[in-house]
Amino acid sequence: MNPTHNRMRNSLNFSGGPGALPEVVLQQVQAAIAAVPEVGLSVLGISHRSEWFARVVAEAEANILHLLGLDSGYRVLFLQGGATQQFSMVPMAWLAGRTKAADYLHTGYWSGKALPAARREGPVRVAWSGEMAGFARLPAADELELSPEAPYLHYVSNETVEGLQFHRVPGRDDVPRICDMSSDFLSRPGEFHRFAMIYAHAQKNLGPAGVTIVVLRRDMLERARGDLPGFLDYRVQAEANSIYNTPPVFAIYVVLLVSRWLRHDIGGLAAMGRINAAKAARLYAAIDGSDGFFRPWAARADRSCMNVAFNLATPALEARFLHEAAAAGFSGLEGHRSIGGLRASLYNGLTLEAVERLVAFMEAFRRASRGAGERASFHRQGVLASKN
Ligand code: PMP
Repeated sequence: MNPTHNRMRNSLNFSGGPGALPEVVLQQVQAAIAAVPEVGLSVLGISHRSEWFARVVAEAEANILHLLGLDSGYRVLFLQGGATQQFSMVPMAWLAGRTKAADYLHTGYWSGKALPAARREGPVRVAWSGEMAGFARLPAADELELSPEAPYLHYVSNETVEGLQFHRVPGRDDVPRICDMSSDFLSRPGEFHRFAMIYAHAQKNLGPAGVTIVVLRRDMLERARGDLPGFLDYRVQAEANSIYNTPPVFAIYVVLLVSRWLRHDIGGLAAMGRINAAKAARLYAAIDGSDGFFRPWAARADRSCMNVAFNLATPALEARFLHEAAAAGFSGLEGHRSIGGLRASLYNGLTLEAVERLVAFMEAFRRASRGAGERASFHRQGVLASKN
């Protein structure tokens, strides 16, 4: 395959993660692998103890706080172990040894993964579960009964697998809110000052896998348990400015480049949010206008701007869709292995033009398959029925 063809293919990467990164950032990364302009060394071979890298971490932290509209009352840490490690680090720091249960919302696949990790450390109360509704919707505000005594509330702002996104901040302002924003971090503006802690791995909207961003209100550091191994201790990591041991220099450098792109090229989260909303609106309009040929997974009010999960009438038709999409240059459209179906992920690096091309492909596929949807009985009927 030639480089132009590959660039086109890469621009049509709808993967759920690791996701597509902006083309301009990829060009800068390519140059930095040969030599970082201001250093003259490859980014893959620069010491994490160099002054240059300390500046990378400081600027990335400042950019992220600026984008979120947060002040120095918060710290930004760059940790390893993925979002999965945060499922354990959070309860290790703030739940172990407590008698009052932490409140957890169980809204889909990933919030479900946080539960057993938390239960290992201390008491957990599932304050709401979407399991009976097939994880096809999120709780309404009046369905949540949250404890004022919980050490914290944990939830996932965007369920990557099911494509469910909170369009409000749930929870009580008198209980620390801890949120896994792995799949919608820095994708739109929000009331980030209402969170005690936010975490997000990089490999969707921010960079490559290997680094997880933790945004922590400083008082949470003071409250964290103090007898953990240094690597797992937020306070130790904060004191070391995320250089407690050898950090993933390359991944953090790419996060810096993406944070510059968001600040200076895109113009901040309000602008990014407008672009992402336009992308999602275009795709949902195509799904809604398909006369039931494409069938959205998520309840309308909770539809995600980042992950659009949908089905066709039969698994065979879905397989044909994926096959023909791949031949047309699209990738990453298969649904998560846990629920199957189809999913288009629209992370920051994916352009509106790519969504337009997908929509055109979907419409052509529908015309060519006319009748296939109506003839077959819908294989997710049960799930759909329980959504209403
Ligand atoms: N939380 C969410 C919302 C996710 O989407 C994922 C993975 N896609 C994870 C956690 C797990 O992340 P990791 O693989 O970085 O541990």
